[in-house]
Amino acid sequence: MDINESLTAAEVVAAEVAGGGRICMTCSFQAEDMVVLDLVRKAHPSVDVLFLETGYHFAETYEYRDRMTAEWGLRLINLTAATTVEEHEREYGKQNRTNPTGCCGIRKVEPLFRGLANYDVWFTGLRREQSPTRAGLKKVETHKLPDGRSLAKVSPVADWTNQQVWRYLKEHSIAPHPLYDKGYTSIGCEPCTLIPLDPNNPRSGRWAGAGKLECGIHTFSEKQ
Ligand code: SF4
Repeated sequence: MDINESLTAAEVVAAEVAGGGRICMTCSFQAEDMVVLDLVRKAHPSVDVLFLETGYHFAETYEYRDRMTAEWGLRLINLTAATTVEEHEREYGKQNRTNPTGCCGIRKVEPLFRGLANYDVWFTGLRREQSPTRAGLKKVETHKLPDGRSLAKVSPVADWTNQQVWRYLKEHSIAPHPLYDKGYTSIGCEPCTLIPLDPNNPRSGRWAGAGKLECGIHTFSEKQ
């Protein structure tokens, strides 16, 4: 039995922060990320908050990111691709339409891989019920990066339901990303995010019709 699985989200955060090392959290500013970020910032106020700045986010995402960064005094780090959106489209066209995996690889996976090189502990807001690809997620996993280095990947709300996430935000008076009010249930880059097609599958608006479930940032590292 993995002892971390019996810990609450706050206990997982406390244990990992107490363990020391260089700590970061990847944050897309969606609901579950705000829960984990709130727990982590209270335990470790100087946590580095990594945002994958693909250049393709909704205006509302940038506005919300900047508002929460100012309100919570976050140490925000924007991870960017080696090329601007203009340069990318000059070379590949609208790659998010023709080859979204290639686009995510350039604008998300490679920048994240570079960004994670500086850390020993990586907090995420992943939850098991979000996708079949996340069903086996553990609260604390050891992951090997492509350069051979390992780090702890920590998902304190892995076992939470959607209802628990929203209850936490309400109880802690945390205003959510404004696009939830417009019917979005999972929010990524604008060209790849629709209001969900299947009301029972909150991520069904992501890469709709492309048969894609993950952008790759949670599948490029090797679980040990
Ligand atoms: S989510 Fe879409 S726009 Fe964003 S990096 Fe991936 S394919 Fe490109």
